[in-house]
Formats: sequence, C-alpha cells, structure tokens
Amino acid sequence: MLEDIKTQDKTYTMHTYKKFDAAFTKGEGATLTGTDGRTFIDFAAGIGTSSLGYGDKEWVRAVCEQAEKYAHCSNLYYNPVMSQLAEKLCKKTGMSRVFFCNSGAEANEGAIKTARKYAFDKYGKDSDRNIIITIKDSFHGRTVTTLSATGQDVFHDKFFPFTEGFIYCEPDEKNLKKIIDKHVCAVMIECIQGEGGVNILSEEFIRAVRRICDENDILMIVDEVQTGVGRTGKFLCIENFGINPDIITLAKGLGGGLPIGAFLVSDKCKETLLYSDHGSTFGGNPVVCAGANVVVDKVSDKKFLENIVQKGEYLKAKLLQIPEITNIRGLGLMIGADLKTKTAAEVASECVNKGLLILTAKKSLRFLPPLVISKEEIDKGIEILTEVLK
Ligand SMILES: *Cc1c(COP(=O)(O)O)cnc(C)c1O
Repeated sequence: MLEDIKTQDKTYTMHTYKKFDAAFTKGEGATLTGTDGRTFIDFAAGIGTSSLGYGDKEWVRAVCEQAEKYAHCSNLYYNPVMSQLAEKLCKKTGMSRVFFCNSGAEANEGAIKTARKYAFDKYGKDSDRNIIITIKDSFHGRTVTTLSATGQDVFHDKFFPFTEGFIYCEPDEKNLKKIIDKHVCAVMIECIQGEGGVNILSEEFIRAVRRICDENDILMIVDEVQTGVGRTGKFLCIENFGINPDIITLAKGLGGGLPIGAFLVSDKCKETLLYSDHGSTFGGNPVVCAGANVVVDKVSDKKFLENIVQKGEYLKAKLLQIPEITNIRGLGLMIGADLKTKTAAEVASECVNKGLLILTAKKSLRFLPPLVISKEEIDKGIEILTEVLK
C-alpha cells in the first residue's frame, strides 16, 4: 500500500520534498498510525502545526460543526467565527488589529507590506524609507519576497530577480546600530530561529532591537510563525523576553492542523493597511477559524502553558542522558540538539523507520511535538531515539 502511494506521489506531484518512508491513516494524541498499521510517536507535529495533537475532541467538533453549517463565504461579508478569533488574539496579546491569511509566508508578506506602507504614509515616497533588516540564519518563507527576507544565502539563488530592500544583520547590537539609517522602515526577527537551527537570540539583543526601533520610529516585526501560540510555554515567545513588537506574525500552530496565517499590528500601525491595500480570498476561513478558536482557548489556560514548560524540561533532561547528544537548547516544546558524530538527516530517517517522527534544522535535531504530548509518549520516543543513537 505504501509502495502504491509512493509511486502515485512520485508520478504526479512535483519532487520538491525529500520524503520519509511513511504515510498515515489516523492519529491520537501525539501518536500516529501508519498505512502498514505501525505506530509512530510524533516529535514533529507536522512541523509544529498539529499543536493539539490528533483527535482533540473539542477541536474536531468545532471544525466539523462549522463545516456542516457553511465552509466559506469570502471577506465580502461578515464572518463571526473570524472576528471572534481576532478579538481573542488582540485581547490575549495586547495588539490592536488582525489580518488573517493562509500561511506563514503570507503573514510575513503582510507584515512587510505594513512596514513599508507605514513609512510611505509618514515619510513620503521620496524618503525611500523601505529597507527591512532581518537576521542572519533567519527563515521567513518561500515566496519571492519572503525568500529575500530570509537571511540565508542559499535561499537567494535560482529565482532572480528577488524583491529588493532587505539587509541581513548578525544578531548583535553593534552590528544593528551600524546598519540603521533613515532608509530603514523595519527590523524583523524570530526570537528563536526555527529552520535556522533552533538558535535563541539573546534577551539583550532582542531588547536592543526594541530600543533602537523606538528611537528611530522603525517598526519591530517579530515572526512568531513557529514560536507562537504556546510553543515555548508562553502564548507568545516574546513574553519570555518582555518586549512588545509593532507587528507579530503567526501561522503554524494557530490552526491546530489547518492552514491559517495572521499578522497582528499594534495601535501605532492599526490604520496602516486600509481599504484596497490588502486581501486574501481564503483568509479567515470559518472552518479554519473554528479550529483556531479552540486552539487559542486551550493554549490560553495557565495550567496548559505550565505543562508545556514542564514537558519541555522533562524532554531536555531525557536528551541529556543520551551520550551522542550535545548542546541541548530551546524553550518549552521547541528544542534543538546537536549530534557528536552522526548527521541529523540520517538519524531522522532511522528514527522514522523505527517509529519516531522527528525534525531536523540545519545540522541539528529539532523537537516540536504536539503541545499535548504525554510523558509516556515522550518516554517511548526517547527510547527509540536512544536505540538509534547507540
Ligand atoms: C515555517 C515558517 C515560515 C513559513 O511558513 P509557511 O506557512 O510555510 O509559509 C515563516 N517563518 C517562520 C519562522 C517559520 O518557521
């Protein structure tokens, strides 16, 4: 059965992904069942998207009930499921307004448009105030513009011409100060770089970005596509660092497994994008928002968040006991670790063959399990990883 699926996939879909040898029929909690009946412990959550794991009763009910009522009707009409989610997100984060879209890249595109429009409105076209500073080793998406925003040279190839107006900065205050001038309209960071290797930026630098942006009327954009909605044990990762950005982008975990993106703006730029400035046909889709409403409710619970921190500590402590593993880092259930001798890619595929789904980021292993993973599931996963690393 898996062989047939593979043949069909290879024949009819573009070969843009390197795939592990597995396909699934169902899941429960943080455990998936394969087409061959084998079970897999999930340390990946579909790249941090299946935040409530699989089969969460309330999430499934909300999504199914909305699908039965109506699935979509566009943004030409009011959509109470979306406005309810917007209110929740604003009240939760202290931001003023939300725009919904369908992916992380699209959310970042919106953030970039907002930053440029803010400077355009305030300083005029002739000011050429449109440069956005991003950080070395960042990742912001796969559209032509978000590839440009991504601070890794490997992504700036093949698809010329790329969108202009991005400068890359080492995550240190001196460097940032050197680059800042009157042409800069925004600085965009991930507090923890996900795809870039699970690199935590220093609190000192993150606070410096806020301060320098304030001093120069530059917008601070924080890409929380991977870190947001509970992943680090706080609703937003910025809460770990005590700063408030002007724009926050969300996606991955927000939908609990359905595609959604969002960018949230502070009071300062709540009137920047107005009628005809932006749009998204599927943005705020009611079925997706019904699921996201459940995710936001659950992840807002203090106990739920504390549990994420505890399970993260538990997982880190277990990793510490594996001799082949070194340099364990991360917050909550966003964890990276390095390997002494083996490559992350080979370990990941051996793990899948033995029943553990795990991610890599550059040369590191990356752990983004469903936020609801149980200690028993962590134990089982660690057992497999230990076996592979023997
Ligand atoms: C995954 C990711 C993106 C891109 O999200 P897509 O939904 O794949 O477009 C952007 N930024 C960060 C930090 C991400 O982790």
